[in-house]
Amino acid sequence: MLKNPHVAVLGVTGAVGQELLAILEERKFPFASLKMLASARSAGRDMQFMDRTYKIEEATPDSFKGIDLVFASAGGSISKALASHAVKAGAVVVDNTSAFRMDPEVPLVIPEINPGDIAKHKGIIANPNCSTIIALVPLWPIHKVAKIKRIIAATYQAASGAGAKAMEELKLQTQDFLAGRPVKKEVLPHQIAFNVFSHNSKIGADGYNEEEVKMVKETKKIFHDDAIQITATCVRVPVLRAHSEALYVETEKPLSPDEARELLAKAPGVKVIDDREKNYFPMPLETTGQDDIWVGRLRVDPTVKNGLAMFVSGDQIRKGAATNAVQIAEILLKQQ
Ligand code: NAP
Repeated sequence: MLKNPHVAVLGVTGAVGQELLAILEERKFPFASLKMLASARSAGRDMQFMDRTYKIEEATPDSFKGIDLVFASAGGSISKALASHAVKAGAVVVDNTSAFRMDPEVPLVIPEINPGDIAKHKGIIANPNCSTIIALVPLWPIHKVAKIKRIIAATYQAASGAGAKAMEELKLQTQDFLAGRPVKKEVLPHQIAFNVFSHNSKIGADGYNEEEVKMVKETKKIFHDDAIQITATCVRVPVLRAHSEALYVETEKPLSPDEARELLAKAPGVKVIDDREKNYFPMPLETTGQDDIWVGRLRVDPTVKNGLAMFVSGDQIRKGAATNAVQIAEILLKQQ
């Protein structure tokens, strides 16, 4: 790939696509040209970016001629339909959807954890699920030192994890509810305003939903550790943006909360916010717009040998999606 690639953003009008543009600008990502791709619904519309006006184009198999790098976030079925065309045209696809994450030929990468996997790509590199990224960035330094045997995760996932329209739905439902009007459900399956419900993904025969299964499978692949035990409960909460998670880990070697705090304070992509006196810990309102995953409430879990509990929060549109994808692309450019 060139040092100054021709870039396409597939799904540019969405929550992730819009954040991706902001991050390309913020991080001064080099590009020779930029192509804005979305569905036929948006084609022809103008989009402003860095003092220029771009025309949004409909994404088709022919959209990738002359493109070196594609950031894809238009949904799994669109990536499945179009990624191979992009690769045939000579591009590398950094894919934010779940389409290829578990494909053994496709690296699944969190740059703070397994950047070495990027070089093994055959045209597609997958960005992990947002809840997986938010859990694993702070768990990796602990795993390296004390070897995690088991993880129990409970998520508190923001509405925007289901896209820009779900975020709007939370705002509208809140206004309608407070005004005493009937609440409309169009994007999410249940009322999200003033409510909490099990993650809106398909539930398998074993009772686990797809989000929970993703966390389990992706953790093993990213950590290169099939033996690690992990189970999760994934839930939507009426938060606009940034996911939070309660994490319980059992380690092979003992690691005190103080040792973990010290380790995490030095870890890339992590910020420790753990003020017991002020009852001040990570909150989604404060992690919104941030790239670091905030960690706090570090304490002993006395119910198992070598148990450690913590609460984490991170912006799932940034580090959980767009920032992680741009970090992968930055490493790709350096590898040329
Ligand atoms: P979103 O806000 O609903 O945006 C979807 C994007 O896909 C829009 O740009 C839409 O374009 C485009 N699109 C839809 N159908 C298309 C088609 N047939 N051809 C071309 N483009 C099409 O969704 P999002 O939240 O950004 O999520 C996008 C992907 O990223 C999903 O796979 C999601 O699982 C993943 N992801 C999301 C998050 C998150 O926090 N939101 C985090 C990690 C990963 P139009 O505007 O033209 O319809």
